[in-house]
Amino acid sequence: MRLITHNMLKCHVKNCTDPNQQFPLRFKEVQLEQIEAERNDEFLVRMLPRLDWPALLTSTKELGIALPESVPASPENDDEFLQALHTAILETHVKEGNMVCNGCSHEYKITNGIPNMLLAEHEI
Ligand SMILES: [Zn+2]
Repeated sequence: MRLITHNMLKCHVKNCTDPNQQFPLRFKEVQLEQIEAERNDEFLVRMLPRLDWPALLTSTKELGIALPESVPASPENDDEFLQALHTAILETHVKEGNMVCNGCSHEYKITNGIPNMLLAEHEI
């Protein structure tokens, strides 16, 4: 699972509705893998407004990945920024581990790169 995907996942357990708690899911005991991918600057710039930057920073900090605190004014001309973003959201894969909700403590397991977002019946 790439971090671009993680940036769009939130807890959907019944009664877990505080937007400040159900997102972003916290990583726990994760195993990362770097998989090289071709950089597409146009795609990266187009994705920027759709990313939750503070949440992305929270997550990358948990994983020890460096990203600037804020998006530069002209990201399309900032090679260093685009490379850091590319590496963080498209080349970093979470292979195994868990994502934990800060609101209800539900743990979503990641197996072989696939997050399991299914809930038990009583959680729906
Ligand atoms: Zn939750």
